Amino acid sequence: MVREFNISSENRYQLIDITDKVEGVVRGSKIKDGLVLIFVPHSTAGIILTENESGLKQDWLAVLKKLISDFDFFHNKIDNNADSHILSGLLGQERTLMIENNSLVRGTWQQIFLVELDGPKKRRIIIKIIKD
Ligand code: ZN
Repeated sequence: MVREFNISSENRYQLIDITDKVEGVVRGSKIKDGLVLIFVPHSTAGIILTENESGLKQDWLAVLKKLISDFDFFHNKIDNNADSHILSGLLGQERTLMIENNSLVRGTWQQIFLVELDGPKKRRIIIKIIKD
């Protein structure tokens, strides 16, 4: 089954915790065991797993900005968001997690984040669940 929801970002770079929304989709599926794919169909956003702690979220943004700080990007001549595309590709635009007992298998400090890299924008998140 496939489900989707939208997330609106407020800043150009932003980490948004979508764990509860994904858990809700998994619970609603009634599927006990399987896999869930979390996909953002945009080339200027990413999906990561990390801890939801305010300092760490700032650290992520600082590292991402530093990674793209020393380049004179060709793509910026037409679109001015090469940094967003590059970081999106590096982070990845999907993650796959296991489902056991109708719930996500993840560590205590593993939350699922949409990483906005060219906001503010409205982003689609597509969830595909495959039953084992
Ligand atoms: Zn572009």
